[in-house]
This record gives sequence, C-alpha cells and structure tokens, in this order.
Amino acid sequence: MAKRDNKRDRYGNRIKSDELFHFTEMMPVNVEEEKQKARKLRSSSWWKRKMGDGHCYYCREQFKPSELTMDHLIPLARGGRSEKNNLVPCCKECNSKKKYMMPFEWDEYLQLISEK
Ligand SMILES: [Zn+2]
Repeated sequence: MAKRDNKRDRYGNRIKSDELFHFTEMMPVNVEEEKQKARKLRSSSWWKRKMGDGHCYYCREQFKPSELTMDHLIPLARGGRSEKNNLVPCCKECNSKKKYMMPFEWDEYLQLISEK
C-alpha cells in the first residue's frame, strides 16, 4: 500500500504536490475568531511591552506606540493565526506597503531596508 505521494490534508484527502503551494492559502482559518484573539492580545501586557519598545518589526525605526499597529507576519487570509509568534509591531508605512505590495515586492522591500 506504499504510495509514492502520500501527503494528506487535514481531512485525509491526498494532496498532489502541485497543489501544496495553494494548500496553505486554503487552510480554513476562522478570521473572525482570529481577529478577536488579536484584539485580546492587543490589550495584554505582552503586547504593551512590545509597543513600549517602540520599534517597527520591519524597518526597525523608532515610533510612538500610537503610531504602531499590530501586524500578522503571515496574514490571516493566508492561514496565519493570532499567536504571539505571528504578531509583530509594525509602523503605518510598512503596514500599508505590506498590504498593497505583491509578496515578491514586499520581499524586495524587506531586503532593501535590511541593507540600510
Ligand atoms: Zn516600519
């Protein structure tokens, strides 16, 4: 019964390898639930400590806490969750760039600012 391609999704269906790329984007995430979790974390002392530090995770510039937003490293729309290791402080500029750039443009942007 040894199958060459035996990757399975959470429902036990076999996944063809060429579908794997899309699979992460199709992972069902309860966005409302995750947003609520993010809201809760936003008022936690863990987040306040992060904001108190005042650095944007991406460009590393210093900001006032009021100028920082909570960003999901992996967006909810792509299967990211509202967990501490997926939430970072992000300045408004980086936030809007991340929203409107294609993933590869965003990668280029990150590379650019890491060379600063
Ligand atoms: Zn930034």
